[in-house]
Amino acid sequence: MADYYSVLGVSRDATPEEIKRAYRKLARELHPDVNPDAGEKFKDVTAAYEVLSDPQKREMFDLGGDPFSQGGGFNSAAGFGFGDIVDAFFGGGGQRGPRPRKRRGQDALIRLQVTLEEAAFGVTREFTVDTAVTCSTCHGEGTSSGAAIINCSMCQGRGEVQSVQKSFLGQVMTSRQCPQCQGFGTLNPHPCAECTGDGRVRTRSNISVTIPPGVEGGTRIQMTGQGEVGPGGGPAGDLYVELIEIPHAIFQRRGDQLHATMSLPMTAAALGSTLELETLDGMAPIHIKPGTQSGATVTLKGSGMPRLRSSGRGDLVVHLDIQTPTAMTSEQEELVRKLAELRGEEKPLAQFHEQSSSLFGKLKDAFTTR
Ligand SMILES: [Zn+2]
Ligand SMILES: [Zn+2]
Repeated sequence: MADYYSVLGVSRDATPEEIKRAYRKLARELHPDVNPDAGEKFKDVTAAYEVLSDPQKREMFDLGGDPFSQGGGFNSAAGFGFGDIVDAFFGGGGQRGPRPRKRRGQDALIRLQVTLEEAAFGVTREFTVDTAVTCSTCHGEGTSSGAAIINCSMCQGRGEVQSVQKSFLGQVMTSRQCPQCQGFGTLNPHPCAECTGDGRVRTRSNISVTIPPGVEGGTRIQMTGQGEVGPGGGPAGDLYVELIEIPHAIFQRRGDQLHATMSLPMTAAALGSTLELETLDGMAPIHIKPGTQSGATVTLKGSGMPRLRSSGRGDLVVHLDIQTPTAMTSEQEELVRKLAELRGEEKPLAQFHEQSSSLFGKLKDAFTTR
């Protein structure tokens, strides 16, 4: 059975218009009235046109059947539609036609660690990636100088070859990738020595990425066209930079808020005080009101993380850990005893908190009332 596509000189994915145009051109050249020696060729061309201009016959031919055979092929199996059998045996239609030599490059993903300070204020980072770039010797063509890509003789450019298998339904045509061209439909007989025909070479490349203020761990920055270039001089894929936030020794991040815990002597908590505290922006005053309780928080507005997609910054919430004095001198102990006496606290009574106001109760509410 002839390959009707090559008889007409059209590609496997030719449109009906292209097929008609190719046939008309050949028919004019080969018509017996014009060219009496081309009788056989004219018959072949006409047969090819008859098949390829009819969508049903063309599909049958594409699937390896012979539209001119009566009986025989697997389209004669009783009780089955043609499509049913094809689906049952081959799991539906796959990609048809030769695969292109020129393809888009792969996307790449790299991970970068950033500190909390870098995430807060943004940074430009340089890094090195292993990637593929266009071969400078052949400019992506994959051929050595002066050589060309040629049509594959085994599959006539179709990228696949047919074989006949016997089954209980009769003969079944199966297609498989052409072993000579690996499905490309073309051959590269003189590949470029630099890239062995791939059109690209592996290299290390330095890349610079700008990390905007307010990013979080897990944020992915897309760098369009910075991935690997494709085979055969195909366009480059994208490079994604995924950020990993290094935990900070002091500040814990919750969205745009920062939390930290600060120790405070009991006396400062009782009397009130103003202290200098190291924040992301440098030293800042923190005001402790007289009579501050253990577990209280002080909020420094706008000292948290910048917001990535809007303006402004979150807050810094400082949790206070009131320190009870230990290892007191006898003089200090005397003073504290005196204070207890003055406050009538020498013999304190056991005082339970109502569940609703105790720390434990609040904690429990937080888990049960949401
Ligand atoms: Zn090359
Ligand atoms: Zn081939």
